[in-house]
Amino acid sequence: MSQNAARNLGPATALTCRECGETYDLGPRYACELCFGPLEVSYDHTGVTRETIESGPRNIWRYRGLLPVPSNVADTPNTEPGFTRLVRADNLAESLGLRSLWVKDDSGNPTHSFKDRVVAVALAAARELGFKVLACPSTGNLANAVAAAAARAGIRSAVFVPSDLERQKIITTAVYGGTFVTVDGNYDDVNRLASELAGEQEDWAFVNVNVRPYYAEGSKTIGYEIAEQLGWRLPEQIVIPIASGSQLTKIDKAFQEFIRLGLVEDRPYKIFGAQATGCSPVSAAFKAGHDVVQPVKPSTIAKSLAIGNPADGPYVLDAVRRTGGAIEDVSDEEVVDSIGLLARTEGIFGETAGGVTLGALRKLLSAGVLDPDAETVFINSGDGLKTLDAVAPVAKPSANIAPTLEAFRKAGLA
Ligand SMILES: *Cc1c(COP(=O)(O)O)cnc(C)c1O
Ligand SMILES: [Zn+2]
Repeated sequence: MSQNAARNLGPATALTCRECGETYDLGPRYACELCFGPLEVSYDHTGVTRETIESGPRNIWRYRGLLPVPSNVADTPNTEPGFTRLVRADNLAESLGLRSLWVKDDSGNPTHSFKDRVVAVALAAARELGFKVLACPSTGNLANAVAAAAARAGIRSAVFVPSDLERQKIITTAVYGGTFVTVDGNYDDVNRLASELAGEQEDWAFVNVNVRPYYAEGSKTIGYEIAEQLGWRLPEQIVIPIASGSQLTKIDKAFQEFIRLGLVEDRPYKIFGAQATGCSPVSAAFKAGHDVVQPVKPSTIAKSLAIGNPADGPYVLDAVRRTGGAIEDVSDEEVVDSIGLLARTEGIFGETAGGVTLGALRKLLSAGVLDPDAETVFINSGDGLKTLDAVAPVAKPSANIAPTLEAFRKAGLA
């Protein structure tokens, strides 16, 4: 790959170190050479208006003027994720005692999780940067998204996951073809292996490792969509799941960009984070008042969030504290209970990550931390069909009967 090739990455102008502010030309780099801090994409966002966005396609490319992707990105094969529904959750709001509640249902993406957003942006940037293979270490949803996007783009994929992943996520990755390796270890082991491989396999774009600055920007699109779908305004409170913490920090970045561009009114919003207690290093740091996140060994049914050493943990703490929010964690039982509550009240079957997020919302509300009168959005980031085992013990038919009226009457269900 040439480091000097001209880059057509739309409005992106440079990579900037989050820690020391050093800037670099756009290219296949992700860590600062001076301080090893993470690099973030900087932009020149001139010319983006509500009208230019509204005239774009009904997918994330309507925001291409705010993303590190070529201006003709919509013309190349990709998975076209995004513009998922924002559902007004009146039944759930009433059962919880909230005035106004919305679910951003990202299970509606092509491979049924929010990961299609980040992968679509990573793929577009990786092509421009000259990579030949789309790769990743994954807790499951990213594996689905990378394998599918590479298949559609007609390039090779190389995906690495912990071998104890949900059966559904193994099958729904393998089906797309590509190189798919299960690794005997947890996600943090797989991630370390991927970082080592990224150093050796020059033309492999590990979406969340060596092209992470571009990948991460894809998460901004959930924030943009929420604001646009609310009628060009920000919610007062938003509850977001935390794995590496990238999604949370980028939704905050999206809201800040919309304010700066004058696309929404500048009014305060609070960001709340959600983790499973069995993998809650960021929640623990928040509660202890720490700025650093102590890594943990994950043990939870919410495998899509099971990152024990979250790369963006400190930046999550910054965003949550700056906006006056909080971080909460919930037990696996609370996760299962909240998956059921969302399904019964709104007809939405979320994955375990959705159960974590609604569970945290309920806990924060009971504790008086969330304001019941403030307009609230929470994110369902994946599809319950991928984590069936979590609810199988509690989601069962009412009865099994012989095909006769008598049998039905006997069952006492009339
Ligand atoms: C990956 C993932 C997240 C959060 O990811 P971050 O690493 O924090 O950006 C949330 N929900 C689901 C279902 C995921 O797969
Ligand atoms: Zn630096």
